[in-house]
Amino acid sequence: MSLTLSVDGERWRAHLRSVAETHPGLVPVLKGNGYGFTVGRLARKSGWLGVDTVAVGTYDELPHVATRFDGDLLVLTPWRPFGAALEVDPALARRVVHTVGRTHDLADLLEAQPDARFVLERLTSMQRHGLSARDLWATGRMLQDHPGVRLEGIALHLPLAQGSHLGEVDRLMNDVVAAELPTHTVYVSHLTDAELEQLRASYADYEIRPRIGTSLWLGARDALRVTATVLDVHEVERGDSFGYRSRTAPKSGHLLVVSGGTAHGIGLEAPTGDQGLRARAATLARGGLDAVGFVRSPFSIDGKQRLFAEPPHMQASMLFLPSGTRVPEVGEQVDVRVRYTATAFDRVVIS
Ligand SMILES: *Cc1c(COP(=O)(O)O)cnc(C)c1O
Repeated sequence: MSLTLSVDGERWRAHLRSVAETHPGLVPVLKGNGYGFTVGRLARKSGWLGVDTVAVGTYDELPHVATRFDGDLLVLTPWRPFGAALEVDPALARRVVHTVGRTHDLADLLEAQPDARFVLERLTSMQRHGLSARDLWATGRMLQDHPGVRLEGIALHLPLAQGSHLGEVDRLMNDVVAAELPTHTVYVSHLTDAELEQLRASYADYEIRPRIGTSLWLGARDALRVTATVLDVHEVERGDSFGYRSRTAPKSGHLLVVSGGTAHGIGLEAPTGDQGLRARAATLARGGLDAVGFVRSPFSIDGKQRLFAEPPHMQASMLFLPSGTRVPEVGEQVDVRVRYTATAFDRVVIS
């Protein structure tokens, strides 16, 4: 009935433990759909892992995590003097660590909450959020006049690796050292193990804390399996019409209705139904379209990726199986290839 993420619990937990052991200071990242697992589940797992801090993406995610994990809660989205950042439950205020990426935000934050805990984000080549080198120095000077503030570290969010980050990290670390900030903790994202090791060797008096999501939660791919259920099967002859758009079958075969649709994040790439000729030609050129105009789906049966008979529905999808292929039975599970960070599973089953 369901789109299910099945987890080989023993392998998954062994992987999580090994990442935690080999990454001292690990800050697990829990955000969005919780990498497919839900943030609530990852919060409990983080407690089990024994870390002292987790990172959430947004202020709105705090309530989902705070009741399931009792350590510190680093918010990755920078603090701003408006919106959800100002609505943190006062009961959580002690545990929340804000990210500050603009000098005037720091002044506003300290005015709103003088005992706020925060990290200063240094802008990287990502160019997403953060302070320039000059702003970091200015902040360092400003903090000298506020000896009581609770600066918990510096944050560096690097782009996904395309070659080495070390040149950039070195330049950024020079800025951090020069700013003479009252902290020796640096939170980093997207460094490889080798880069982390080198960074620790070069800046031995700093504590380097990696923030990791994907390679922690999704790093043991063979422990994960995604399946849909075959809900119905209909034999069709060439010319029979089917589906929301009364399309006609280009040849004989079977229509298969399987669980998993747009509400789960399945097949958001527009299949051919509404496409113009050029888009169809482009899809065909990429090998996504078969000779009769069907688009390849993420569902596979007997190891072969099958075709959408029409665009996915909200909670189910219609596949076309040409005659001659084995027809699965109602109730059978079929494999689905998904982007975990963009899929809402009906169930997560951890053995
Ligand atoms: C999402 C995020 C991470 C985790 O990224 P992964 O690629 O999932 O490990 C780390 N740092 C920041 C700032 C993020 O937004």
